[in-house]
Amino acid sequence: MTQALAPAAEKITDDNAAIEAALADASIPTLMLSMIHMSGDTALLDGGIRPLGVYLNEVQGYMSEEDKASIRAQALDVITRYRDNGCQAVPIKDPETIRRMMSFLVAEEVPMDYVPMMLEEMELDGDARQLDWDDIPADERADFHVTVIGGGMSGVLAAIRLKEAGIDFTVIEKNAGVGGTWYENRYPGCRVDVGNHFYCYSFAPNHDWSEYFARQPELQQYFEDCIDRFGVREHFRFNTEVVKAQFDESLQQWQITLRAHDGSESQLDSNAMISAVGQLNRPKLPDIKGRESFAGVSMHSAQWRSDVDVRGKRVAVIGTGASAFQLVPTIADEVESLAVYQRSAPWMFPNIDYHREVEEGTKWCMKHLPFYSRWYRFLLFWPACDGLLPSLKIDPNWPHQDRSINEMNEMVREVFTDWMKQQVGDDEALLAKVVPDYVPLAKRTLQDNGSWLSALKKDNVELNNLGIREITEQGVIDSNGELFKADIIVFATGFHANKFLWPMEIVGRKGIKLNEQWGEDPAAYLGITVPNFPNLFCLYGPGTNLAFGGSLIFHSECEVRYALSAIKALLQTGNKAMEVRQTVHDDFQQRLQGELSDMVWSHPSVKNSWYQNDSGKVTVLSPWRLRDFWEWTKAVSAADYDFV
Ligand code: NAP
Repeated sequence: MTQALAPAAEKITDDNAAIEAALADASIPTLMLSMIHMSGDTALLDGGIRPLGVYLNEVQGYMSEEDKASIRAQALDVITRYRDNGCQAVPIKDPETIRRMMSFLVAEEVPMDYVPMMLEEMELDGDARQLDWDDIPADERADFHVTVIGGGMSGVLAAIRLKEAGIDFTVIEKNAGVGGTWYENRYPGCRVDVGNHFYCYSFAPNHDWSEYFARQPELQQYFEDCIDRFGVREHFRFNTEVVKAQFDESLQQWQITLRAHDGSESQLDSNAMISAVGQLNRPKLPDIKGRESFAGVSMHSAQWRSDVDVRGKRVAVIGTGASAFQLVPTIADEVESLAVYQRSAPWMFPNIDYHREVEEGTKWCMKHLPFYSRWYRFLLFWPACDGLLPSLKIDPNWPHQDRSINEMNEMVREVFTDWMKQQVGDDEALLAKVVPDYVPLAKRTLQDNGSWLSALKKDNVELNNLGIREITEQGVIDSNGELFKADIIVFATGFHANKFLWPMEIVGRKGIKLNEQWGEDPAAYLGITVPNFPNLFCLYGPGTNLAFGGSLIFHSECEVRYALSAIKALLQTGNKAMEVRQTVHDDFQQRLQGELSDMVWSHPSVKNSWYQNDSGKVTVLSPWRLRDFWEWTKAVSAADYDFV
């Protein structure tokens, strides 16, 4: 029943000159694989011209200009013949050939056990993540109702899959539109930092991204477009929040209390509930003395006020995490003065293409060359897959624990530090402030094209790392007693990441409250199911944030498939409810914590990190290979659950 949802390549009607012009922008390694789909000839895989290596966001494989020119000339020939023969692409099915093509593209051997996962992700052969529902009568599916909480990236995905399955569902979204984080975070400069041709659903590629790392409005629009394209908009109830959900044991279903923005409450009963509320949704304001006393405009970065104009204003930004890192360079030239308050310096890695626009030739290749966009997705995914994971283990014998966790991490430190030194030049004082005092990769590493440090070097910008004593009516006072008189204070201070499904009240069997069961230690089997909470499936739940690579969309696609396979198991067996066994959950949790405890994110040099809870324990992250998570979440195993 797999059916390709991604659009097929458009027919080529362009003349040779136009094709030649487009090829100037092509990723040559990707083009080489598309040529195989056009000619059917795999000889390129054995030729002397080939990609030499792979690195995150490097799409030319370090090939020489001469080699690239040679391939462009050959490609023109192949493409014109393909065009003149009516654009008949050659499907390639043989797994070993696919594996060879993958290995060629990334200039390293791709193990066979990664091929099925990557094939799914690339959708070379249809949408393999759809489940087959044919053996369950349509009326039984339509009688089963699911409430999805949240209409962000994961909630939209769940909606699309539920619709495909023919299951009845409602998505409750507190905002007026979809996108979640991409709806709410509207601060200037907000953009994604996973390459966009990978950061989109595997079955819904977008060949029209205007930038390689698109900005918020375009991302939000993508999700709006998806709910229309897949016909699920009518299932969304906007401007409505879930305030409480209680599991009714007599009926074996969830009773959900909703509150609309006008304050009116209503009830919704559902057989199952999918939480898609995200980890970074509830803004966290810092506990700084006098915070409320400021007389000017103050706002959290995720609650940016569209009516506030920063031009010519004195602005204080508190925090130097991912949000501030994008905001500060964007407003630096517009404001009169900018004080940036840093508690911990962020590590950043060089990505000179971070703000680059997608060239017209690249868009043409994505649209017209068969499977080009699919191979390009793989090219972005592979270097962000599992390769980095082993290097994030703390080596207990490594002698320089004060600055790195192992030999590889030390090299990373050198590369990152050199990148900063090159930009800071002679300004030793600035360099001392911006090189972090904790090991690299322990907190979210930021993509950098040089805009952060160049903003901090501007005459009207000051980086203050002395600590904040208090906020007064007039502005911010640092620990030296220096007042920065501000018109606007922006709290780029992050989110309540460790409080999952908060502030909703979720009550499971026997009146057990989820926030009390979890306390400081949110935990779920595979990050998805929780003992005492039957028929509740979390997307992007505890232990599923990715800090080493991948994309949350990949993870969500795995989690949604798992949740739907659970619903399918209920319908197939005629059971009403399923609950993960405590022992299964506890065993998983023990293994998860065992893995996390000696990884870089738990390193003692890290003082403040949203990856850790208040006791310093990492609960939000996944330590697992993507390959393993994909395998474990393909379908529920009935043995892991108690059924009612
Ligand atoms: P964040 O990474 O948690 O950063 C919060 C910043 O505020 C940190 O610099 C933190 O300092 C500082 N801070 C917090 N409390 C403070 C206090 N009381 N006094 C002084 N400073 C304080 O939050 P974020 O920047 O909003 O980013 C959160 C996550 O959202 C990111 O890690 C990322 O996953 C996601 N995000 C992604 C993108 C993207 O894709 N491009 C963009 C934005 C956000 P410490 O470091 O010392 O705690």
